Amino acid sequence: MKHLKQQDPEIYECIQLEELRQHEKVRLIASENYVSAAVMEATGSVLTNKYSEGYVGKRYYEGQQLIDRVEALAIERAKTVFGVDHVNVQPYSGSPANLSVFLAFLNPGDTILGMALPHGGHLTHGAKVSISGKYFHAEFYSLERESGQLDYDKLRSQALSCRPKILIAGYSAYPRILDFERFRAIADECGALLLVDMAHFAGLVAGGVHPSPVPYADVLTTTTHKTLRGPRGAMIMCKAEHAAAIDKAVFPGTQGGPHNHTTAAIAVAMKEAGTDAFKQYAAQILRNAKTLADTLISRGFNLVTGGTENHLMLIDLTNKGISGKTAAQALDNAGLVLNCNAVPFDTRKPFDPSGIRMGSAAVTSRGFKEAQMEQIGVWIDTVIQNHTDTAVQARVAAEVKELCSTFPAPGLEHLV
Ligand SMILES: *Cc1c(COP(=O)(O)O)cnc(C)c1O
Repeated sequence: MKHLKQQDPEIYECIQLEELRQHEKVRLIASENYVSAAVMEATGSVLTNKYSEGYVGKRYYEGQQLIDRVEALAIERAKTVFGVDHVNVQPYSGSPANLSVFLAFLNPGDTILGMALPHGGHLTHGAKVSISGKYFHAEFYSLERESGQLDYDKLRSQALSCRPKILIAGYSAYPRILDFERFRAIADECGALLLVDMAHFAGLVAGGVHPSPVPYADVLTTTTHKTLRGPRGAMIMCKAEHAAAIDKAVFPGTQGGPHNHTTAAIAVAMKEAGTDAFKQYAAQILRNAKTLADTLISRGFNLVTGGTENHLMLIDLTNKGISGKTAAQALDNAGLVLNCNAVPFDTRKPFDPSGIRMGSAAVTSRGFKEAQMEQIGVWIDTVIQNHTDTAVQARVAAEVKELCSTFPAPGLEHLV
């Protein structure tokens, strides 16, 4: 980065220090990952200089010979990885992807039904503060108080009574596999389209270690940067019959020119996602999450739903006498980076809720296996038990740094 260093030392310094932070800390934020050096190179390429409103073979500007090749490759690879009829790779990110789906099928005021935000749903599934909740009539389903899980009979009754135009299956903080077949049956019974938002678990689906929602969904959205380990971006996939409506809703419906550098990086990520190495990666994500969950449970932590079936875990800290924010800050001081999170039926405020959320996608990318996950569980317990003790935090931070020094993350090998 010699040009950046010379021309803008302030930003250069921030990037250098962030690189070091990502190298030295254990990153457990469930939505984050480390992309490969190849994905990073595509992201930082000259494709950022190009404008290409429209679609492959149907552009408004000239000079698209290579852009069309790039976008066609991204689409073909994604179709193969997920086994879908149609893919749109242009959404800028997960939130605009969901908005495009709503634009394609809804009129203002129409009803959508999604998982409640404090129960693990996403802002874009109808939360009041989001455009999805302001322009559409959003109803929400909740989890069960005792099990922390979804009750499909209740969901069915609710769907039959509110009759949504779109039923949404997807989450940002639910540690279980959704029953897509059941969602399909409910959608059919109430005449709704089924949208599966697989932003969090798309990498597990691509890796073949999680049931695929593709046979059941009318439309699927996913970010490309979470477990899927691509650049910041998103895709919308659908059955052939919805292809034209989806494409029109993305461009010109909600967006202008696609981010071609991101499209290229998505193509690279989809090539990676089709490999055996990625299948092994996805399987290790699950083993790592399970190991961390088991370690924490054995140390008296209360995991929402009693464990995990995917890459993420949600811990209710109420029995530990510490709030989610306080815990997350103490852990960050100790080099263990995660986020505080509401738990179902949380009595605390969203900014300082009762829980913390963590995921295994990023640490698995740097090569952590079961032994390292167990160690992380022990550290989390130690820091939470001693959350006012900055000496303990400093000691753990040093141990974390030591461990990380022998597991260089993809693209950060030069730091060891
Ligand atoms: C992360 C996420 C999104 C939004 O993605 P952004 O890229 O942050 O806009 C949408 N839906 C779900 C379920 C997510 O977890």
